[in-house]
Amino acid sequence: MEFHVLTVFPELIKNATDYSILGRALKQEKLSLFVHDIRDFAPDRHRTTDDEPFGGGAGMVMKPEPIVHCLEHAIKEYGPGYVIVMSAAGRLFKQAFARKLASYERIYLIAGHYEGIDERVVEYFADIELSIGDYVLSGGEYPAMVVIDAVARLLPNVLGNQDSLSQESHNNGLLEYPQYTRPREFRGLRVPDVLLSGNHAEIRKFRETASQEKTMQNRPDMLKTSLTETTENEQ
Ligand code: SAH
Repeated sequence: MEFHVLTVFPELIKNATDYSILGRALKQEKLSLFVHDIRDFAPDRHRTTDDEPFGGGAGMVMKPEPIVHCLEHAIKEYGPGYVIVMSAAGRLFKQAFARKLASYERIYLIAGHYEGIDERVVEYFADIELSIGDYVLSGGEYPAMVVIDAVARLLPNVLGNQDSLSQESHNNGLLEYPQYTRPREFRGLRVPDVLLSGNHAEIRKFRETASQEKTMQNRPDMLKTSLTETTENEQ
């Protein structure tokens, strides 16, 4: 599988890919990551990629031509793919959508900066506008990395233990149960006895209840929506 990130700050992506599970997956060529510098497609020698917003208002908007030229150049070289614009105004990125993306051959991620990018790019050249959460960041590079990381760990043989995927938070509309490891007692705090009992049925029951309680406490909204919207984001 191929990821392509289009950005005016390529170093932000390049510096974030050497480590942990994603770093290993890239080294083992379970997936490939290409970074394209939008500035290379700026029309002038100052490499300008932004301009003032029509209609007035604060800040600068990223011009459409460099982004679209950069995208078309990449598509010509590597082939067509699913095009995502990272945007605080996009649809919310969810685990179900990460699973869907994991089945794609090639994904182009466009990272915005400043006040964002010209709407024509979103409307006519992208398949989806995607947000990673209800907050505003200064650039789309970290959001693009969030999407890549979430998708990469779903690819076959990227995680050491594939079983961990089925148990995880957001896989079944609930958050994961609390986990414990050695020591059994830390500063007087004991691991729940049932986990040391070896009784698998009891352990499963404990984890089910703990998972529901954690979801109730941290994300009551998930319990409300999980009945009707488990496939949300699965366009
Ligand atoms: N003016 C815009 C925010 C621009 S932030 C608005 O009000 O919606 C600059 C860039 O950062 C965006 O173009 C986008 O690529 C990225 N970005 C910021 N927050 C994001 C989020 N929550 N999810 C995905 N991308 C985000």
